[in-house]
Order: sequence, then C-alpha cells, then structure tokens
Amino acid sequence: MRENNDFRQRFLFPDSDLRGEIVHLEASLEPALAGRDYPLLLRGLVAESLTASALLSSTLKFEGRLSLQAQGEGPIRLLMAECDHQGHLRGLARYDELPDTTEQPPLHDLLGQGRMAITIMPDQGRQYQGLVPLERASLAACVEDYFERSEQLPTRLWLAAGNNRAAGLLLQRLPERAANAERNADLWQHLTTLADSLTMEELLDLGAETVLHRLFHETPPELAPARPLRFQCSCSRERVRNTLLSLGAAELRDILDTQGEAEITCEFCGAREHFDPVDLGELIRELEA
Ligand SMILES: [Zn+2]
Repeated sequence: MRENNDFRQRFLFPDSDLRGEIVHLEASLEPALAGRDYPLLLRGLVAESLTASALLSSTLKFEGRLSLQAQGEGPIRLLMAECDHQGHLRGLARYDELPDTTEQPPLHDLLGQGRMAITIMPDQGRQYQGLVPLERASLAACVEDYFERSEQLPTRLWLAAGNNRAAGLLLQRLPERAANAERNADLWQHLTTLADSLTMEELLDLGAETVLHRLFHETPPELAPARPLRFQCSCSRERVRNTLLSLGAAELRDILDTQGEAEITCEFCGAREHFDPVDLGELIRELEA
C-alpha cells in the first residue's frame, strides 16, 4: 500500500483578513478513478473536482459534508465531488462521448448549458444549496464566480491535475474589518497576483511548503498542521437495500420475474451489491407484511 500523502493544510497571513488552503491528492485518486474508463480529459476534471471539494470543505465550521456538482446538457452531464470534515472524499462523472482533442476545451463547452451547485450538508441541521450558471472556462473560475455571486467573499482558486496527481490552492478574504480595509485590499491584490504566477506544474510537483515559500516569502503565512485526506465512500449494502425497498413490491416482483436478481454498482467506488432471488423475495415479503 502506498503511503498516503494526501492532505489539506490551512495558512493565515498574520494581521490580515486573508486565509488560504493548499491541497495535494495522489493515493485518493486511484480508488476514485479505478474501474471507470474515464477518458483522460475527464480523469483530470474528476481529480480537479475532488481537489476543489477538499479546498472548499475546509471552510466549513461544523461537522458535515460539502458537495460540488456541475450539471449540464453537453457531452459531460455531471461532475460531482464531495468531502467531509474528516477529509473523506468521493466523486464521479457521467458523460456521453467526449470530443477527441488533445487541447482541453473550455468547461462550458464540455458541460453545455448548465449550472454549478454547492451543497453544504451539516450532520446536524438544515442543508444549504447555492447555484450559479456555468459560464466560465474552467472549474476553478466557476467556483470563483459562485463565491462572487452568492457569498460575496472574494475567493480565488488554482487547480491542477496530471500524472495521477492533483493539487489546489485557495485564497480567501474573510468579511472585512473596517480598521485595516485598505491594507487588506492591497495585500489581497498583491498575493493573488503572486499566486497567478504559479505554473500548474509547480503546483503539482512542488511540496506545499515550497509552493507557499516561493510565492509568499515576503509576507510568510502561518501554517496550521496538515490534515489527511482520503477516498472513502459512504455506500453500504444497507443503503442499497433501502433503495430497493423504495421501489415498492410490484417493481421488485417485476425485477425478480424478469431478471431473477439485482446487482447494483456504486457509481462512486464501483462496489457491487448483489441481491439474489432469496434476497429479493425477502424484500418483497417485508413490503407486503
Ligand atoms: Zn460506494
């Protein structure tokens, strides 16, 4: 088993309202992409989505999960990733045939008319969802657009994926304190310009501390300890069972008569749950009881 080098790490710029997060993913990508013959283009986008969900969920102040979904009517119909407060990640894509190009087309061409949803699901309390139309050329730009429109928190995101790795950087301005608003605005401008100079290769290949040192050595951020990230699916036989029960006795009887059994594959992790005729018969009896 490969050592898990997947983590997220928060950093704060002292005496300012600016914070950031850096994420590296490697081992977690394998199970997320295994068994799915995603074209190369889509592997990159799923990896970017996982990275973005890890960056964004780090802003949660409670126990729960954040889900990022881009849905459209183009060749890619759905890109989805989620991450919880413990750093458990999973993601998937649904797609039709993709254009055969070596250049990466803009995201709005791949997804077509669509929207991005960010859903926050606290373990306790009500879930919250925000939506933006998909109008930008990259996943990072769509997320920035989301924050601009719905959260009014200036947020910038840099995402990179390739060579079975992914990495991301987030910078965010917290709600301003009037006291040093001007200094914060200048610092924001300065730090985001520096981060824009980072190449995707540097983000992918250099360690987090090297990236942060290279970019921000004039105003060194304080680094919090790195927190691990790993792929973990929340599917279970119990959940599949509940899904089957929700179909109702008539539908289950129909499956039993026509197919004799049911096999359900989890879209996130590829786990298969098999329900043989005896299992299906039990479910039907339970519904008819
Ligand atoms: Zn699963």
